[in-house]
Amino acid sequence: MPRTKKEQSPYGVDEWGSGYFAIGGSGHLLVRPFRDQRSIDLVEIVRRCAAEGLTPPLLVRFPQILHTRLQHLYACFDRAMEEFDYAGHYRSIFPLKVNPMRAPVASLIRAGRPGAFGLEVGSKGELAIALAQRLPAGSWICINGFKDRRIVEMATAAAGRDPEVVAVIERLSEIPLLVAEARRQGRCPLLGVRCRLNSRGSGRWEASGGETSKFGLGASELLYAVEMLEREQLLPRLQVLHYHIGSQITSVRRIKDAVKEAARIYAKLQQRGVPLTTLNVGGGLGIDYDGSRTPSDSSVNYTPQEFANNVVYTVREVCDEEEVPLPALVSESGRALAAHHSLLITNCESRESDVPIHFTPREVSSPPEPRSPKSPDDEEPTQIAEMAAIAAEISVKNFREYYHDAVVTRGEILTLFDLGYLTLEQRAVAEQHFYDICRQALAFARQTRFVSDEFRVLEKAFRTKYVTNFSVFRSVPDAWAVKQLFPILPIHRLHEIPTEKGILVDLTCDSDGVIDTFVDVRDVKEVLELHAGTNGRPYLLAICLLGAYQEIMGDHHNLFGKPAEVVARLDGTELSIEIISHGDSIGEMVRLAGYDLEEMKTTLGEVFGGPGSTPRNPGILECWEELRAGDSYLVGDREAFESVD
Ligand SMILES: *Cc1c(COP(=O)(O)O)cnc(C)c1O
Repeated sequence: MPRTKKEQSPYGVDEWGSGYFAIGGSGHLLVRPFRDQRSIDLVEIVRRCAAEGLTPPLLVRFPQILHTRLQHLYACFDRAMEEFDYAGHYRSIFPLKVNPMRAPVASLIRAGRPGAFGLEVGSKGELAIALAQRLPAGSWICINGFKDRRIVEMATAAAGRDPEVVAVIERLSEIPLLVAEARRQGRCPLLGVRCRLNSRGSGRWEASGGETSKFGLGASELLYAVEMLEREQLLPRLQVLHYHIGSQITSVRRIKDAVKEAARIYAKLQQRGVPLTTLNVGGGLGIDYDGSRTPSDSSVNYTPQEFANNVVYTVREVCDEEEVPLPALVSESGRALAAHHSLLITNCESRESDVPIHFTPREVSSPPEPRSPKSPDDEEPTQIAEMAAIAAEISVKNFREYYHDAVVTRGEILTLFDLGYLTLEQRAVAEQHFYDICRQALAFARQTRFVSDEFRVLEKAFRTKYVTNFSVFRSVPDAWAVKQLFPILPIHRLHEIPTEKGILVDLTCDSDGVIDTFVDVRDVKEVLELHAGTNGRPYLLAICLLGAYQEIMGDHHNLFGKPAEVVARLDGTELSIEIISHGDSIGEMVRLAGYDLEEMKTTLGEVFGGPGSTPRNPGILECWEELRAGDSYLVGDREAFESVD
């Protein structure tokens, strides 16, 4: 069925896509890395990868989106500083925990402005990565998180260079470590201090902020820290005041409250002679995952420009009032920079309905003899005939009552079966009538203005399961862990009206390995509109906005590894694809679980015999050799992907 009007699309691409996604004339999903007309066709990526031997699932990165996002953030602060006459400087620092993978980090570093870029790290591994990059001149490396002697030693060793290392004090106990190392090495990194605000974030990560948060110093601790540093003559190094009230702040109000409180603390410390130069407002700049522009958990009620405006305006207002010089501003936006740049393309392996396939009793060649003491064949229980009658007579006028009758009758039939009065065939026939009744009742219920709860439950039970070639735990962990929503849609056939309502089930043997809530501009959907009748052709979906947190938080449940990773960019108008990785092999996954691959080989050979003699009759070792180098996901038909449209 061809689609006539654009607004019929149920996927909300124009809303959550923020200009980076569009539906092309061919019904394909397009990515627009520069937020203009230049576009990349996702189907083309699948075809080209298949030609190179890579089949879905594919993690696809668009480094030009990272570039566009960072430039946009710079532009927002430029504009805000101009508008509010803020004679100051803005720096964007990328927190490595949001996405420490080499390719996106390299893209962001390339996009960073000299004197206005940096990386934030929260562990020793992240610090090592940050120090070993060639950052734009005048960059910062900010160290947050819990610190031991080793990380302090390394930070101190790197002090006084370009990039400038900033150690952010999160707990008083870190000060003696910093002091001891400064004495030993005769130098000290720039120091920052993280304050604990009374203001909280809003949304899913609200608990990261507030008075009881895990990190930061309260007012009395701040003063104590200042005293300790003063005593050690390190106060001149304390130049940065930092806070972070949590990720994905959904309401602009919370941003305003936090920056107001922090600016006040900044001013008061300044007035006490702390030589602060910089206010670091942390992360929290959110993403509109569902396109609703509301303070719901998956959205935000503000734009990056409003975020910048609020920060700049509020700091200026408070500092003017307190008569202290305006600080340089730093933000550590991770999610806002990274989320749009990567997505997972995967294929639906099959479609399964919760409702069993149709069973025709006549086709059963020899019905088994019932073992029950009574002979049910002689006198069939009336409940079966009753069920058949309900199925035949249910209508828009009586569907509620008839549905209720069917539920009761079904209960009786199951009891009869338990007691041995029914054959399995009789139960099957009754079951079919019952599902037929449910389906009809549901169709009638949908026609009414108000759908009651019982039919909503029925709607849920009748969702079609699309078996999809990925692992929720590996690629979309927040969908499982915190029920976060991500936009999901087919990458082709977008001009056809989808006739199915489905959910996605992944490859893991875990009932949590499903995605059964979906973004909707007005609500949260419990089904996703999907297409039927794939005629054996690949049916491809994209799970979008995965660039923040999901990649590195993904785990190895059921030994599904990292999917293949490719980078797609536009050279002029030409699509260029670079294969970064073929994905984790099964051998790597097995080794990760602690097994010795050589030992496995020996055992396999000893237990199941040596190598086989012919390709038609391979030995276990040949099978294992091939398997261990291969992909943990379902291997698709390469040629079908190569010619998909
Ligand atoms: C996680 C984190 C960030 C990033 O937050 P986003 O909401 O992703 O921008 C920034 N700063 C600190 C200290 C963090 O821990």
